[in-house]
Amino acid sequence: TLAVESPTIRPINKGVVHRICAGQVILDLSSAVKELVENSLDAGATSIEIALREYGEESFQVIDNGCGISPNNFKVLALKHHTSKLADFPDLQSLATFGFRGEALSSLCALGDLTVETRTKNESVATHLTFDHSGLLVAESKIARQIGTTVTVKKLFCNLPVRSKEFRRNIRKEYGKLISLLNAYALIAKGVRLVCTNTTGKNVKSVVLKTQGSGSLKDNIITVFGSSTFSCLEPVNICVSDSCKVDGYLSRSGNGSGRNLGDRQFFFVNGRPVDMPKVSKLVNEIYKGANSRQFPIAIMNFIVPSMACDVNVTPDKRKVFFSDEVSILHSLREALGEIYSPSHVSYSVNKFE
Ligand code: ADP
Ligand code: MG
Repeated sequence: TLAVESPTIRPINKGVVHRICAGQVILDLSSAVKELVENSLDAGATSIEIALREYGEESFQVIDNGCGISPNNFKVLALKHHTSKLADFPDLQSLATFGFRGEALSSLCALGDLTVETRTKNESVATHLTFDHSGLLVAESKIARQIGTTVTVKKLFCNLPVRSKEFRRNIRKEYGKLISLLNAYALIAKGVRLVCTNTTGKNVKSVVLKTQGSGSLKDNIITVFGSSTFSCLEPVNICVSDSCKVDGYLSRSGNGSGRNLGDRQFFFVNGRPVDMPKVSKLVNEIYKGANSRQFPIAIMNFIVPSMACDVNVTPDKRKVFFSDEVSILHSLREALGEIYSPSHVSYSVNKFE
């Protein structure tokens, strides 16, 4: 006979569940800031400032000039699965916003200290809101502020001991990843001014990223990477299938056009920055045939009907699922092969001509 007794099944304490799940939505500094920047973009902001203290370890703040949050939303603002963007499942298919699950603010509450300052066009003063770790509004006061929203998170991961230690240990790496992510938004967001500052020591503030918010991808590339980098690129317009188009820029094939590291590759689906390891691998592989010494710079926006892709695959929404991935990759391989073939003249390839 077995010596082990059958254990009793009990529900996990709600606060603990919240903390565990929050740790999946907010993986690191860059996923935390990403959520806030996306909220600002969803709110129609044309100016977004990201203010870090000690590379984000002490605090980070996202300040926007978007529509603000109206007072009747204050109490539910940071409650889990509360959102102004999605009400029913079918809405997911026509979604035009970055957010839709109502999880970011609630997760950030669970993992750090969250405060919000906000004002809509209907109020003459702004309100400062303080939330507790379960997402409940615990204090409210009036302050002066322009229309828009500021979200501040202090001491991220303070209550996840392992993550907190890793976060502190790897802060420079986390910071680097964040800057690269902000570059992705700076490239794709049209007409949005982005500024990122970092304050260290005794109030030494430095500007680490600044874009003017120009209206085209070309201008954005020039502000983010400079005109000499831009001059190594060629625009691409690939018709991958009758429902999938890729717009963007790729390095020319000659030596000196690529980079020693594959660190300047940015992939988007309908303007949403995402990770595309398979596409990246494919681009690198084909580029290698034309320039064996470098990695290409790649900025590629996949334009697909929202019905044909699912961004709700992982809690951080960085992964996408195409309904037709195999054939998309196959056609892309052919198109890239033509682009980087020695006889190639233009970087626009229509597979259906
Ligand atoms: P989601 O973005 O999925 O809706 P969040 O937790 O990120 O969930 O945000 C909850 C809600 O708070 C949003 O739906 C939006 O109405 C409001 N909100 C959050 N950030 C901002 C902001 N910067 N400006 C205006 N409204 C905001
Ligand atoms: Mg959001």
